[in-house]
Amino acid sequence: MTPAVNLDTRRLAIERLRTETFDVLILGGGINGAGTARDLMLRGRLNVGLIEQNHFSSGTSGKNSHLIHGGLRYLKQLDFRLVREALHERAVLLKIAPHLVEPQPFLMPLAGFAKSLYYNLGLTIYDLFDGSGAVPRHRRVSLEEVRKLEPGLAAPGMTGAAEFYDAQVRSARLVLENIFEALRNGAACANYVRAESHTRDEAGLWRVQLRDSISGERFETRARALIDCTGPWARDPAPRLVRGSHIVMPRLNHSGHAIAYFEESGRIIFFIPWGERGDRTLIGTTDVDHDGAADDVHISEDETRYLRNIAARIFPASAKLEPVATFSSLRPLLESHASATKATREHHIYRDSQGIIRVTGGKYTTYRAMAEEAADLVVPPELRDVHLTATTALNGNTPDAIQALLTEAPALSARYGVAETEIIMLVHQYGVLTTAVLDYVETSVDAARLIFATRHEMAIEPKDFLEVSTSLGYEGAPLPRAIA
Ligand SMILES: Cc1cc2nc3c(=O)[nH]c(=O)nc-3n(C[C@H](O)[C@H](O)[C@H](O)COP(=O)(O)OP(=O)(O)OC[C@H]3O[C@@H](n4cnc5c(N)ncnc54)[C@H](O)[C@@H]3O)c2cc1C
Repeated sequence: MTPAVNLDTRRLAIERLRTETFDVLILGGGINGAGTARDLMLRGRLNVGLIEQNHFSSGTSGKNSHLIHGGLRYLKQLDFRLVREALHERAVLLKIAPHLVEPQPFLMPLAGFAKSLYYNLGLTIYDLFDGSGAVPRHRRVSLEEVRKLEPGLAAPGMTGAAEFYDAQVRSARLVLENIFEALRNGAACANYVRAESHTRDEAGLWRVQLRDSISGERFETRARALIDCTGPWARDPAPRLVRGSHIVMPRLNHSGHAIAYFEESGRIIFFIPWGERGDRTLIGTTDVDHDGAADDVHISEDETRYLRNIAARIFPASAKLEPVATFSSLRPLLESHASATKATREHHIYRDSQGIIRVTGGKYTTYRAMAEEAADLVVPPELRDVHLTATTALNGNTPDAIQALLTEAPALSARYGVAETEIIMLVHQYGVLTTAVLDYVETSVDAARLIFATRHEMAIEPKDFLEVSTSLGYEGAPLPRAIA
């Protein structure tokens, strides 16, 4: 497989945006916009454009908890429909993007018989709702076994734990791959192009004023349908914004498990084995109403203190460590009067009074189903039942292709003079394009990835490489020499 993107891709996409009339124009290159572009292009015979004001996945989609999950806290809120749909999507994503979405075992520390009964019952329902067999079922774990698995874990009053499975995703890269498949199938996708305003002409065509923030030029594009996937940036109406922050610490836990800890308040805090080389722990998240602008999102001192205090309670050794990084992003939630933690994650996809399709709310986990629903609203009747995204491997990354690459890792290691662990890391980031990245190795793997990101992933700014193509910018890791 060769990369879908080269150094001309962005220029050609902008040229097309200037000159062509699109069937559909998508605003926003987060997971919802990217997933919708992929869906539309797989249906065939459509001319689709997508624009993103910064780099693809620079919004919420690249700065979340990186989980593809049914959502235990939604189960607790008895939101069975959302949990069932999310578990279905978890099974789909494990199959169509096995390099980027992987089963993740969790330990949930439990205190006392009553809690153990309650949570094990909940996890039994979780298993039943899944029914795909894609991940192992939950089981009870004795205190003795927990101590062996996680000697540093000291959840207050812990009498044992439950082990269950969800999935971890490299979320910014999954957005990129959706964009790249859409490009490969003929979409015009451009980053660093912002939609400034739009009008509808007498013929019913949308005329959208765009600004290329690299060249500074303004131009117009035309489309028969508009899909607004601007998430936290949406206007008229603007969504309710809830900020969620994470801190990244040096790796705290011992086993491959993530820890899911329910606080007394009902909020769930995750400690996730994280980082490209697995040597970090991602801790989050908070839920705070965000009063500022969507472009101005940072962790507050209160949030940092809150997360560090919990970390010190659950992993006392962490009290002596400093976070290596933090990141924050915004949940665009449907308007609700519930508290920030309980506000609904349900999505709402609708045609507004102007005729624009709006994609609002939802979870990253359910993006594929949301994209399908949005695409159904704009395609001609004969394409309305063409639903291929759940059965088509993303960019050819079938489970067999990934397994074959992992089996080949020792041979690739010898051929390219790169450690086998690095080959395996690359397979989990680039899938079938692993050797296309390895072909650039001269000094180090990360230097090769930097070249690959600029030539084949439309990375323009250093942060596009550090926060989207890779997560190195959030790991406190030494940077490739070209950037450091
Ligand atoms: C802290 C946190 C943790 C989360 N963790 C999880 C999780 O573990 N699992 C899960 O399933 N869900 C999770 N979610 C929810 C999930 O991440 C979001 O629902 C999802 O990423 C929203 O995607 P989006 O495409 O709608 O928005 P975004 O990713 O924010 O994309 C919108 C894009 O539109 C662009 N844009 C805006 N205005 C314009 C314009 N005028 N012109 C061009 N482009 C524009 C923006 O730059 C942005 O890139 C989490 C959310 C948060 C906040």
